[in-house]
Amino acid sequence: MEGDRLRAMSGELSAFRDAVRRFVEAELAPHEARWGKQQHVDRAAWRRAGEMGLLLCDVPEQYGGAGATFAHECVVFEELQRANVTSFGKHVHSIVAHYLLAYGTEAQKARWLPKMAAGEMVAAIAMSEPGAGSDLQGVRTRAVRQGDEYLVNGSKTFISNGYLANLICLVVKTDPQSGSKGVSLLMVETADLPGFRCGRILDKIGMHGQDTAELFFDDVRVPAENLLGGAEGRGFHQLMEQLPWERTIVAVAAVAAIERAVELTTEYARQRRAFGKALIEMQNTRFKLAECRTTAHIARVFLDHCIERVMDGTMDAATASMAKWWTTEQQCRVIDECLQLFGGYGYMMDYPIGKMYADARVQKIYGGTNEIMKELIARSL
Ligand SMILES: Cc1cc2nc3c(=O)[nH]c(=O)nc-3n(C[C@H](O)[C@H](O)[C@H](O)COP(=O)(O)OP(=O)(O)OC[C@H]3O[C@@H](n4cnc5c(N)ncnc54)[C@H](O)[C@@H]3O)c2cc1C
Repeated sequence: MEGDRLRAMSGELSAFRDAVRRFVEAELAPHEARWGKQQHVDRAAWRRAGEMGLLLCDVPEQYGGAGATFAHECVVFEELQRANVTSFGKHVHSIVAHYLLAYGTEAQKARWLPKMAAGEMVAAIAMSEPGAGSDLQGVRTRAVRQGDEYLVNGSKTFISNGYLANLICLVVKTDPQSGSKGVSLLMVETADLPGFRCGRILDKIGMHGQDTAELFFDDVRVPAENLLGGAEGRGFHQLMEQLPWERTIVAVAAVAAIERAVELTTEYARQRRAFGKALIEMQNTRFKLAECRTTAHIARVFLDHCIERVMDGTMDAATASMAKWWTTEQQCRVIDECLQLFGGYGYMMDYPIGKMYADARVQKIYGGTNEIMKELIARSL
């Protein structure tokens, strides 16, 4: 890590990184291929990650979190990526924890955060619908207040952790006539909930072990006390405020993937021989790797700047959008260049670079598409 603040924490972070790496390599990575086939991770893996204190690193201890920093969270994201474990949906879980921390009432935080930290509850955030992705104001899922409950009807799609989640931060319209002021966030506990149904786990071109699913709500009754923050109409504002955090963690995964791809490809190019010499001795290989290594370094310096800004509370929407679009574009480009250097083996699933290639593509789409990122940056010009 490169920034001043991160450098000052480097001893502590590197000891933490060693422990996380050991855990990920021993207890998660060996299951990744099987999780890909079954389309979801084992629930036991969530509980183990909870026991290790890896789920809510930067949530205060009073709510069951590890009481550490965002840099610790980033170390966990980086180590998952390094081990090519993309099935484990910690990103959306952490995002929901941050919504609770920022807007939850004391009772809501005390009720859900400790269970999320322990991995007893798996969280998802459900914004997207068949007719509303980039344009969130088009959300149609409706929540109507009836006494001390909300009656919820609608459906969501592309929801990460959708199959395993038992706590869903649901984007609903509480007042469809009021545009963005009619959007609210409702926390839905799904265990034995009449009218709630998880549809099929969606077939994707990568991230096969992530349970991306459709969710259906037919006359679902949710206690009114589950409204995030206790007031209607704040959902859009809450989403806009938290998106920079979410976009930074997409960039964290992107940069970790770039670094790993360069490392793996350099090793391969040293071993693989053609025309009587190692691939790394050929000028094209050397230049390609030199370019990719340069990208990795620039991305790391910028990312660490972003991590420090999240840590000191000064991250803004435009900078987070820059981080999200630029690092994910570089991730896809660098991994493509690296895969080429593996030749035919790059296209085989026996080598990690093939999985990295397939897993990378969605990074340019979710968390707000890269086109939307450029819109947001352009607005700040
Ligand atoms: C694997 C996966 C996991 C996901 N996880 C979640 C999740 O956990 N929770 C959740 O709520 N959603 C999730 N999503 C949904 C994701 O956030 C959306 O797919 C994304 O926001 C884009 O929305 P859309 O698919 O409806 O595309 P659309 O909004 O229909 O966009 C289609 C194309 O039009 C472009 N476009 C749209 N508007 C503009 C504009 N104003 N200017 C220029 N171009 C524009 C887009 O950039 C895109 O290229 C996930 C998606 C995937 C694939």
